[in-house]
This record gives sequence, structure tokens and C-alpha cells, in this order.
Amino acid sequence: MSDLLPNFISGRWQAGSGNGTGLFDPVLGNELVRVDATGLDLATGFDFAREQGGAALRAMSYAERGAMLAAVGKVLQANRDAYYEIATANSGTVKNDSAVDIDGGIYTLGAYAKLGESLGERRFMLDGDAARLAKDPLFQTQHVLLPTRGVALFINAFNFPSWGLWEKAAPALLSGVPVIVKPATATAWLTQRMVRDVVDAGVLPAGALSVVCGSPAGLLDALQPFDVLSFTGSADTAAAIRSHAAVAQRSVRVNIEADSINSALLLPGEAPDGAAFELLAKEVAREMTVKSGQKCTAIRRIFVPETLYAQAAEAISARLAKTTLGNPRNETVRMGSLVSRAQLVAVREGLALLQQHTETLHDGAKHTLIDADPAVASCVGPTLLGTRDADGASLVHDTEVFGPVATVLPYRDTAHALALVRRGQGSLVASLYGSDPAALAAAALELADSHGRVHVISPDVAALHTGHGNVMPQSLHGGPGRAGGGEELGGARALNFYHRRSALQASTAVLAALK
Ligand code: NAP
Repeated sequence: MSDLLPNFISGRWQAGSGNGTGLFDPVLGNELVRVDATGLDLATGFDFAREQGGAALRAMSYAERGAMLAAVGKVLQANRDAYYEIATANSGTVKNDSAVDIDGGIYTLGAYAKLGESLGERRFMLDGDAARLAKDPLFQTQHVLLPTRGVALFINAFNFPSWGLWEKAAPALLSGVPVIVKPATATAWLTQRMVRDVVDAGVLPAGALSVVCGSPAGLLDALQPFDVLSFTGSADTAAAIRSHAAVAQRSVRVNIEADSINSALLLPGEAPDGAAFELLAKEVAREMTVKSGQKCTAIRRIFVPETLYAQAAEAISARLAKTTLGNPRNETVRMGSLVSRAQLVAVREGLALLQQHTETLHDGAKHTLIDADPAVASCVGPTLLGTRDADGASLVHDTEVFGPVATVLPYRDTAHALALVRRGQGSLVASLYGSDPAALAAAALELADSHGRVHVISPDVAALHTGHGNVMPQSLHGGPGRAGGGEELGGARALNFYHRRSALQASTAVLAALK
């Protein structure tokens, strides 16, 4: 049997008392390690984090906590090679795709380390200016933000075992709030290993970071009113979490990042041999294939003027046809595998469903596997679908196939295109392609209320833009409606979730003495 990974809780490494669940190599099919959380005393572990970790973190200033994040980043940097090996084996990703997760996490830690430095030697934040409450200016109100005296529990999705931890842990720890992470079982190894390295390096106070691998049973029961919960995963699990007593009765603050039917939109008036058209085709092909399309931000729907439907299908398909697929250990492979056999089944089912309502413009099944056995490997080729009936294709606007699958949809005019994009019912990101700044700005504002991020690509930023699906710590991540209604990152905005706001009402002399 493979090794059983221990959990780190109550300041010590503890193995679960069960046999554990195996984690597999999705390309070769062998079991790698096992995880188990059976029998852990979660209530005591959460108390330990709250009391010891919370007190130690709150005693530090933002600048000190920023330096602590920089130290965490250094530990991860020093162990990067091991993380790439784990990602190849357990996530089936090629190097460039592993980098999105591993280096993306380290970069985000660095961004919050710098923010901590800029916040300086204080332990709370002022929120806005003081405002007088009456005619006499002596009595005023000043809002302040204090770190919540609870734990931050993260229940994460399988597709970002590194970035999914650090993009949340960086703002939580910077705020002075201890973290307990429960990675998705399928890829928990990388998260567990990173926590192990950081714990071993001794760069965090006791109780600041814990990891529980395996079943989520009992985690929400351990939450108390000042704790916060961040969930990333499917809409179904999100619904179960929202109705749990911790959230419904104990008012645990919750942030949800769920699935999202993201869009790319080529604005009218662009020529099929023009720069904006090319940028769209390039970005769509990239988004479909990075991490085999297992990105919550990946482009799922592509909107083009109806006169360009055939040309768009052709241009994107031509790029997809060049994608080499298979074992990520082979240097010629550009796209590795899905995360598991279960995901392969789910993607095939979702694809078959969409294919009942669309035509297949580029068939991923025609890609041959390099260095991998199709009976074992969870590899699936990129498939581009399309339908000329964008209004009638309800399933396309509703179905997230979490793999390398996207659908081309034609529109009549800008108003029609924007209405179709909004049929995603709230998304993480939409990207716009065009060369007319005024038209792009107007469309961006039309979509901003229903999207956490609008990524606008014009030829002048062709070599500069950060990518439709790349989540940058400076910008908000999250989306309204079906995307979960959550908000993460966005620079200093991320700290709000981990702080409590209070209105102090006092004389100006008292307010001036706040430190
Ligand atoms: P999932 O099945 O909902 O699992 C997500 C996490 O929830 C896992 O850690 C899982 O643990 C845990 N979980 C399962 N049932 C639970 C319960 N009843 N109570 C508490 N926790 C529970 O989702 P997934 O299949 O891993 O992730 C894929 C989905 O995540 C996609 O739809 C994708 O769009 C979405 N996603 C969104 C974002 C974003 O930022 N918006 C980012 C990445 C992914 P186990 O693994 O142990 O079952």
C-alpha cells in the first residue's frame, strides 16, 4: 500500500485512523499516496488554531506578517522542483500548466508580502475618514477594521492545489487570521507537501497553518461565529454548505467560488484577417488547452458576428489541431491529462450532452495520445463545438464541461451579443476583443455588473495582457450569480473578508488616540 499522508492539526502531525483514500497518477493509473482524516479531534484542532495561532498572528503588525509571507514564499521557492514532480504525477499536467498553479501561488504570496510592508507597523486599519455625528464636531464616528478572532477554513477544489491555498492564505495570514485548509482529495498531496515544508521551516507561529486531508465530514460542525469559510468547488456542494447550520445559524461568513460559463466576445466590425480576430482565436485555443480546460475561468462560450462564424471555427480549430496530447513527461506533449478517471467520465458525459445540441467543429477524439494508454490515461483532446442557433441553445449557456471544451455562437449585433453573454447568469470573467476603444469600453461597462472581471484585449496590449483566465492578485476574482457570488483577491480588498468592521463613536480626542 502507498504511504498515508498525515494531517497537521493542533500543532502536530496526526495520521487518520482509517485505511485512507488513494490518490492516483491520472496518466499511468498507479496509486501514489493515501489520505485520511478519520478520528481527528477537529474541535480541539480548531480551538488550537483560534487561540494559539490567532493570538500570535494578531500580536504581529501588518509589516511583520508581510515579512512572514515573504519567508513562506522563500520556503516554497526552495522546494519548487518537488512540487513540479508531484503535480506531474498527481495532476497529470505539463510543466507550463503546473507553473500556473505552483508559481501562481508563490507570486500571489509575494504580492501580499509587499502589501503588508506598505501597511506598516499597525494592527488594525482605519476604514474611511471620521464623520461628525452632530452639529458640534467634537463627537464623531470612525470606522475601523480588526482581524476576526476565528479561523479561516478553506475547502478547495482539485484543480489548484497550490494556488487555491496561497491565494486565500496570503490575505488571511496578512490579516492576522489562522488558516485550516482542506484540499480536494484527488490532488491533496501537493497542498499537504507545501504545508509540510512551511511547517518544517518554522516560519509561521504555532497554529497559524493546519491541513486536513480526506473526507470533509465534521469540518463545518467545528466552525464558530467568528470563523470564516471559503469554498471553491461545484455549485451542488456550495448549496450544501450554504444550508449548513454553521452558515445558516451561526452566521459564519462564507465566500463561494463555484462554476462559471465564461465568455469571449469578438466585437462587430473586425476583419477575419485582422489583429483582434487573431487575438481571439489565439486566446480561445490557449484557454481551452491550459490545464486541459480545468480552470474555473476558462472560456466556455465564444461569441462572434454571424458573418464570421465559419472563419472563427476554422481559425480556432487550426490552432487546436496542433495540440499534442498525452503523458506530460514527454517533452513534445503540450496538453496533459484531466485530474482523474472520474473527471474523464464527467467530461465525456458533459460533452456528449452538448453535442446533442451543437455541431462538432473540431473533434478532440481524433487526437492520438503520446506515450499514454487510452485505456488508462485520463486524457481528452480539445473539442470545439458550435451552433448557429445561439438563442435556442440553452444547454450551452448553462452547462460547464470542466475540460477542454468550448462552443462558438454567432450573434446579430452588439445588443444581441451582450444579452447572450448575460445568459451565463453571472460569470467569473468575460474577455472582449476589438480595436475600437470606445466600443470596447462601452461593452465592458455593460458586462461589468454580471462579471467579476472583464478582460479587454485590443491590439495595443497584444503582447502585454495577462490572459483571459489568469487570476492576478491585483484584480478581483469571483463572480456574481451562478459563479457563487464570491470575491477574492483584488489587492487590499481581499483583507476585508478576514476583518470585522466596527463604528467607533467618540470624542475627537479619543479617536486621535487610536493606535
Ligand atoms: P466539489 O466536488 O464541490 O469539491 C470541492 C471541495 O469540497 C473538495 O475539497 C471536496 O472534498 C469538498 N466537499 C465535497 N462535499 C462536501 C460537503 N458536503 N461539505 C463540505 N465539503 C465538501 O468540486 P470539484 O469537483 O473538486 O471542483 C470542480 C468545480 O470547482 C468546478 O465546477 C469549477 O468550476 C469549480 N471551481 C471554481 C473556482 C473559482 O475560483 N470560482 C476555482 C476552481 C474550481 P473531496 O475532494 O474530499 O470530496
